[in-house]
Amino acid sequence: MATARSVAIIGGGIGGLTVANSLSQIGMSVSLYERAPCFIPTSGAAFGLQPNGQISLESIGFQDQAKKIIHPFLKWQIIGDNGELLAASDRLSEYGQRFGYFLGGALRSELVDLLKEPIEKSDNLHYSHNLINIKQDANGVTLLFENENEQKSVHADMVIGADGIRSTVVKQIFTETALPVHSKENVFYGIIDNIDQQTSINPLVTAKNTMTQYFGFGEFITYRAGHKGQLMWAATYPSMAPPSASEDSEWTEMNNQRDLNQCLKRFPQSHPVHQCAAATNKTRLLHFGLFYRQPRNDGWHRNRICLLGDSCHATLPYVGQGANMAIEDAISLAQCFKKSKFQMEPAFQEYYKKRFNRTKRVVNMARYMGLFLHSENPLVHSIRQRLVPWLMQSNMMIRMAEKELYENCPVPMEQRKPLDK
Ligand SMILES: Cc1cc2nc3c(=O)[nH]c(=O)nc-3n(C[C@H](O)[C@H](O)[C@H](O)COP(=O)(O)OP(=O)(O)OC[C@H]3O[C@@H](n4cnc5c(N)ncnc54)[C@H](O)[C@@H]3O)c2cc1C
Repeated sequence: MATARSVAIIGGGIGGLTVANSLSQIGMSVSLYERAPCFIPTSGAAFGLQPNGQISLESIGFQDQAKKIIHPFLKWQIIGDNGELLAASDRLSEYGQRFGYFLGGALRSELVDLLKEPIEKSDNLHYSHNLINIKQDANGVTLLFENENEQKSVHADMVIGADGIRSTVVKQIFTETALPVHSKENVFYGIIDNIDQQTSINPLVTAKNTMTQYFGFGEFITYRAGHKGQLMWAATYPSMAPPSASEDSEWTEMNNQRDLNQCLKRFPQSHPVHQCAAATNKTRLLHFGLFYRQPRNDGWHRNRICLLGDSCHATLPYVGQGANMAIEDAISLAQCFKKSKFQMEPAFQEYYKKRFNRTKRVVNMARYMGLFLHSENPLVHSIRQRLVPWLMQSNMMIRMAEKELYENCPVPMEQRKPLDK
């Protein structure tokens, strides 16, 4: 049976960087190819790193660094139309004791920086490598990269396609794949620096260690991310089309003022989203369409080429698991390779078996949450306004999410020692 020792990873996102670390730790020769010329600190905004993502990072030795970039949430609250408190729960403050980790906010660029370090140090991170062609035969995989006027060919025993929701690997190798689905919602993401110096924003939504949400006329969420006093906010709105025709500009695209005004108009005048938008530097505002991929059920590999992260199960952000699932994939794939003694076919098959149901459930959970939380139907809207605070205070919603997300984690939670606040 064919074994692999050298692996080419396409894409230096969260999944690609994590799998580069996990596979090199089990002794594989890793080369990571990223099409961007470098990673810039203002690229992307932030996301929630959840206990399942953090324990997975701990399993490859990143626990101390990860702790430094995560702002823990101890409180979860829901606000009303005028920014008033509707309901609050302290359940998140128990996570340290129960799971060994708090759910917390991290700036994407800071997570990228810490994951890239070992790969860059060992000269295995190759920027400005845009994959344009990929072919495999019995002896290995040949990859063709293009950058400006140059082309370069590379050979490897196997390839991991971690190149995100618009994956070139998928387009070339998994030719029957349906396109990513636009959820008919777009979002504005903003990062506000030095939040403690901002006096114009309702202090309820800028509080430390607190995740705040609003489900009324579009969803609004805020939380602090990182340890340098940054606040991240996001506001979704319904739309028949994504904001840009360009496929690749989504995570770096600047604000479009007219669309922003349209989005803000949906929220009442006294809603804190207006204060957050006014306090955000235009270079820290992102605007993009929300897409997901129907989880593929025909295997995630073809001979020597395998998928990971958004390229095979991109999810909507409503359960905050996109990055966490990509991290879990990476750990799981390395575990399967170690177990199979580097034989590709059994490793890829076991990886798919372990990951398919879990990722499918998460993708579906996020879709259904989105449908319920954002429905424009007046009846659903009115039920939601009463039900969501009740679900929160009864801890029903959060208990279901914890069971699904943390109890089925590939790195068992019980291995962790409790953590104090
Ligand atoms: C720049 C950027 C910023 C983001 N910011 C946020 C955010 O603020 N909040 C949030 O919730 N999610 C964000 N995301 C999405 C989030 O990171 C992913 O949904 C999740 O982490 C899953 O990661 P992934 O590794 O599968 O894919 P991604 O993180 O999307 O990474 C894919 C990588 O592949 C590279 N790539 C794509 N095509 C090629 C090619 N042909 N050749 C070589 N390299 C290629 C891309 O440049 C990218 O670095 C962002 C993604 C990107 C790319």
